[in-house]
Amino acid sequence: MYRAGVQSFEELTNIPRSLRAALEQEFVLPDAQADAVATASDGTRKLLLRYGDGVAVETVVIPDPPRLTLCVSSQAGCAMGCRFCATARLGLRRNLSSAEILSQVLAARRILQAQERITNIVFMGMGEPLANYENVVEAIEVLTAQWGFDFSARRITVSTVGLLPQMERLVRETPVQLAVSLTAPTDELRSKLMPVNRRFPVQALVDVCRRLPLPQRRRVTFEYVLLAGINDQLEHARRLASLLRGVRAKVNLIPFNPFPHAPYSRPSEDSVRSFQQELLAHGVHTTVRRSRGLDVQAACGQLALAHGVGPARSTGEARAMGSAATVSGE
Ligand code: SF4
Repeated sequence: MYRAGVQSFEELTNIPRSLRAALEQEFVLPDAQADAVATASDGTRKLLLRYGDGVAVETVVIPDPPRLTLCVSSQAGCAMGCRFCATARLGLRRNLSSAEILSQVLAARRILQAQERITNIVFMGMGEPLANYENVVEAIEVLTAQWGFDFSARRITVSTVGLLPQMERLVRETPVQLAVSLTAPTDELRSKLMPVNRRFPVQALVDVCRRLPLPQRRRVTFEYVLLAGINDQLEHARRLASLLRGVRAKVNLIPFNPFPHAPYSRPSEDSVRSFQQELLAHGVHTTVRRSRGLDVQAACGQLALAHGVGPARSTGEARAMGSAATVSGE
């Protein structure tokens, strides 16, 4: 079922007809309708998938040869309220079931070209994966099982704002990679950008990361969305380096992906490079994420907003916000 990506039990012609009929009676296959598929000039494809009850989520296929990464959503909307994120504007509709998470992989595979194959899966779409812990872990189980999608766990990354108890559990219970959205090196700044920091402050978050029982050669990736004039000064880089001392860390810098009326702007290439250099000079392994699909509202939540998906707001308001929303939790 998972490997062939069947859309109905009828397609399972390798099992008896009577069994197919019985399956049809008892089970519903994970499936979602792709409402919109947008393709960027760099090959990034973004799907807006709608489930039976009308909620919609985004899934993004990102080609970066030899890799082809799929960014999946774990919740419809999000309750975390990160200020730089378009999805935050939607609020939380509901958790996705494990089947709904897996249906994103099936739907994405259906739009791939013949020679394409998903190599990596990142839980960096809509929602905070660890706020939907059980369903996300169940989906990971199917993704990595030989009887399921048979993906290598090392090629699956779960990104979190840092829900500490669930984060520790995830590292204990699964072999997937962990990414932590940090974005500011101090409580004062992080609490302004990410309200979750009031519950799980920077130092506690980093202390937990320092103690995580990571297997050999594994590091925690810290994502840092660079916002011009807000958190991109060299002083911030130095504080970040000192904060991460003793942590097996890698920093992934994500220059903010702006659009008209966004409350933040993208830092210049020079300041991104200087920030990276400063971290490298302090011995912090640092990469810069290339922006993908800029012309298809690549930031998570943007496509949903543009299509009027939102719980508490009218379509008109959501559309208006589509142009004002900011970058994602990608
Ligand atoms: S960045 Fe992630 S956790 Fe924060 S509001 Fe957006 S989707 Fe939620």
